[in-house]
Amino acid sequence: MFKIVSVIIVGLFILGCSSQNSMNVSNAMFQSVNKEDATLVQEGEKKGYCARCGMDLVKFYKTSHAATFDGKNYQYCSIHCLEEHLGEGIELKNPKVVDVASLKFIDVNKAYYVVGSSKRGTMTKVSKYAFLNEADAKKFQAEFGGEIMDFNKAREKAKEDFKHYKN
Ligand SMILES: [Zn+2]
Repeated sequence: MFKIVSVIIVGLFILGCSSQNSMNVSNAMFQSVNKEDATLVQEGEKKGYCARCGMDLVKFYKTSHAATFDGKNYQYCSIHCLEEHLGEGIELKNPKVVDVASLKFIDVNKAYYVVGSSKRGTMTKVSKYAFLNEADAKKFQAEFGGEIMDFNKAREKAKEDFKHYKN
């Protein structure tokens, strides 16, 4: 009898945990993903945190960018922090962004950015979400609004935030 009760209790506990987990994800910020779905490219203890602002890269994964400089990988929470690093005049190579649809890193030059949708942004009031496929970007735009543009135009939009902060 005791065994049966404990099996039921353990069972309930596991059920409780799993529904808690899925609840956490759906209630979390749009940018957040499960840790196992995130690609972290930096080395060392701080690999899970933005190279510029230190924010959690799994929490802000869907706006994450990455690049290499001097043979070292850097990962950012957002195009904002990538832009800040570029603003120092260093030559960042191979810039990449997370494709919101597949959660994989893609070349920024292949990305369709949806800028200014109703989904909240990272480090900005004007959100920027990237997609590999134009169809995915259009689908997102149809649901949440915003304007579709390429990486260079999205960078220009990101730069506007720096002007804003200076004023
Ligand atoms: Zn950051």
